[in-house]
Amino acid sequence: MARYTGPVCRLCRREGRKLHLKGDRCNSPKCAFTKKGYPPGERGAGGQRQGKVSTYGLQLRAKEQAKRTYGVLERQFRRYFQIADRTPGITGTVLLQLLERRLDNIVYRLGLASSRAGARQLVTHGHVLVNGRRVDIASSLVKAGETISLSPKLKENPYVASAQAYADTVGRLEWLEWDSETKQGRLLRIPDRDQIPSDLKEQLIVELYSK
Ligand code: SF4
Repeated sequence: MARYTGPVCRLCRREGRKLHLKGDRCNSPKCAFTKKGYPPGERGAGGQRQGKVSTYGLQLRAKEQAKRTYGVLERQFRRYFQIADRTPGITGTVLLQLLERRLDNIVYRLGLASSRAGARQLVTHGHVLVNGRRVDIASSLVKAGETISLSPKLKENPYVASAQAYADTVGRLEWLEWDSETKQGRLLRIPDRDQIPSDLKEQLIVELYSK
């Protein structure tokens, strides 16, 4: 499965916001966006870029932010949009719901990894079980009611333990269930838009693809 392999902090600087792509580092003073909150490129030009952004520019940025946040490349992202467009409901909301249902995102949301990239790695390396069966496709969509757990040898892994400790502190989303005894999570239901903690502007994405 294709994925972006370039410098990820550059993506945050390009979008002018933290996309939280690097786990713990994103909340530390080492965050590149905290240190250099201007666009990449030549310092003078990038840092002082001004002017009115066109509607198309806003729509494009909204799409890029969503793709970068969830770690999805253009072709797959467009496929999500096509599915959302065919599905009854508000297209932008359905699009976000599809992205949230990705297995790597659910693993991240459950606090089994500190970033979606980390979650994706756990999945592709075969450490994630859905309903007790190994699934190594990060883009597979989790259905309501399905359980998510890690292979036994990962349960004591320090990276996973640290991510879980952080999630225990900040709490998990209401549409996910987490059992700290069995270390198993469950997608309780597909979230409504207001239950998805994201300030992405999905309506702009719909407008872009609907042209
Ligand atoms: Fe973005 Fe995280 Fe890098 Fe900061 S540390 S620039 S939030 S990926």
